[in-house]
Amino acid sequence: MRPRHPLLPLSLLLALGAAADAAAQQPSAARMVAEAARVEHSDPATTLRLTRQVLPMLGAPGSDSLRMRALVLRCWAAASDAPDSIAAWAEAGLADALRTGDGRAIASLRSCRGYAHLGANRFREAVVDYDSAEALARRLGAAEEQAQALVLRGELRYYRGEFNGAIADLGTAHRLFTAVRDTAQQRYALNAIANLYADSRVAQYDRALEYYRQVLASHQSAGNLRGIATSYYNLGSTLQRMGKLEEALAHFRRGLAMDRRRNDPAEVATDQRAIGEVLYKLGRPAEALPILDESLEYFRRAGDEEAVAHVRLTRGVTLRMLGRADEALADLEVARQRYASTDNRRFLEKVHEERAIAFAAAGGWRQAYEARTEQLALQRELSERGRQEQTSRLRVQFDAEKKEQENRALQRENDLRGQALAAGARVRRLQAAVLVLTAIVIAALALLVTRQLKASRRLRITSLTDELTRLPNRRHLLMVADEQVKSARAGATTFGVLALDVDHFKRINDRLGHDVGDAVLRKVAEVLQGSLRDGDHVGRTGGEEFVAVLPGAAAANAAEAAERVRRAVEQAAFGEIHPTLSVSVSVGATVWHPRDGSFAVTWKRADEQLYRAKAAGRNRVELDAAHS
Ligand code: GH3
Ligand code: MG
Ligand code: MG
Repeated sequence: MRPRHPLLPLSLLLALGAAADAAAQQPSAARMVAEAARVEHSDPATTLRLTRQVLPMLGAPGSDSLRMRALVLRCWAAASDAPDSIAAWAEAGLADALRTGDGRAIASLRSCRGYAHLGANRFREAVVDYDSAEALARRLGAAEEQAQALVLRGELRYYRGEFNGAIADLGTAHRLFTAVRDTAQQRYALNAIANLYADSRVAQYDRALEYYRQVLASHQSAGNLRGIATSYYNLGSTLQRMGKLEEALAHFRRGLAMDRRRNDPAEVATDQRAIGEVLYKLGRPAEALPILDESLEYFRRAGDEEAVAHVRLTRGVTLRMLGRADEALADLEVARQRYASTDNRRFLEKVHEERAIAFAAAGGWRQAYEARTEQLALQRELSERGRQEQTSRLRVQFDAEKKEQENRALQRENDLRGQALAAGARVRRLQAAVLVLTAIVIAALALLVTRQLKASRRLRITSLTDELTRLPNRRHLLMVADEQVKSARAGATTFGVLALDVDHFKRINDRLGHDVGDAVLRKVAEVLQGSLRDGDHVGRTGGEEFVAVLPGAAAANAAEAAERVRRAVEQAAFGEIHPTLSVSVSVGATVWHPRDGSFAVTWKRADEQLYRAKAAGRNRVELDAAHS
């Protein structure tokens, strides 16, 4: 199912203040930007057109604030209306904003570029942009831009299955948008939270319904028809997952009526597919078929192959229920080819299950057996994946809900057993030999599922985080640093780099054991993070080695930060780990220089300073002299 969100609403840079001067000089340009902002949510295509027209008129000094506003609007309008061009607009806008030094515009355009990365499946780059946008906006006290970065990062984390981080980001974003009274964005954040709760891996459907209803009410009072239709659809999907099919049908129908009124054929076709599916599940295939035919016709004309496959699958089941097995098999075959070519295993499993039933209905025992075998292989693979998802699902819980959650897990376990049994029952219609084989596999599966649910629930750790200290790991830090190189180059600024290494760490390990060593590393990480500014980055790059990246820091700032960090470690309470412990770090400091080229060169220079600090007796800072 495609994720449905309302249009990305963005009401940014609404403070007109400085724009007033420029407006006096350029009344028509100012009017165009104001108009572009006004229709941003309702008509992003117009926003895009107006900003593209107006920007060439805004090159002169004195029009900076108006230009920044137009740049931000252009990028986000492209996100809704012309995703192919968003990356180019983001880069161009960012270069201009960096030159102008407009922090809020920089933050918003970084978020916008992150969104472009996301569209191209460059997740890591997206995370880096969102992180830096969030940190910058937080430092500037720019609540809207901070919330915007958080909502995007929250959604990205959600897509990656990092539910806890996602809910934290989205919750903060929602609070910030509420504080600045941005109703549209507040609604967007709430909708994203509802999407998360409605996900079958999280499965907190009651909460999802509650939030979707709030979103719906908010769209209704704003008279936003598209939002209303989307809310009905989301409510319908959630109710369907809860097994409340009649209610789901009623909501899908309301959404359909709304989308018809809005004259939006793509949304109409999506609603129709959902309605067809609920109808056959309610045992009303004859009603489902004409609706699915209409939906299929639209998607075929639109050339949307993924959607065609989804409808063919639904229609195949419907036809089989109507006793038209041969036609059903033709539909299912089209869907099978599509899912095989895109490696969509979840749907492929469903298709094979339906093919087995349809072949059996048509008397093709051998093909039924083959389809069933393929289905079971996929099911096994997916149940392994499901187990991994289960562990992350459990992370979403807050303590108060723990008990309820455990009941849910038990319920789920029972459901899975029930499903295995139901699948077994279906198979009994097949030949005896097939039955025996399948029953064995299913029994093994049920056992596996039960055992896996009891298995230890280790938390999943993202590949960008160091497991021991929870700091960004080497990989993540290098991404952050690359990003800094890019913005430093574009903005003719610089940034500081610290290389840190714990002194005589081997002795700590040798004398007090590896566990104490680990605790020391965790504590050092905490102290480093606590003594750097918001917006600075520190990561663990190796055993007892850390690197800090300090955006905007010149040599004097870097030296100052290095000394502050060194002193903080020296004075930290390591006695709580072991009474005889005293810990220090040596620090090498430098700043990025344009001739460095890559970050590796800067890092090497910081490392050289670190070794000088070690040689000079440890627990001290050395600054690269050429840059001091
Ligand atoms: P120097 O002051 O010159 O840096 O001396 P040192 O003893 O700190 O330097 P060295 O690099 O020789 O020792 C680092 C030690 O850190 C060696 C390694 O066993 C230990 N180490 C690396 N990773 C970990 C870890 O994750 N946990 C623990 N406890 N020790 C680690
Ligand atoms: Mg070392
Ligand atoms: Mg060391």
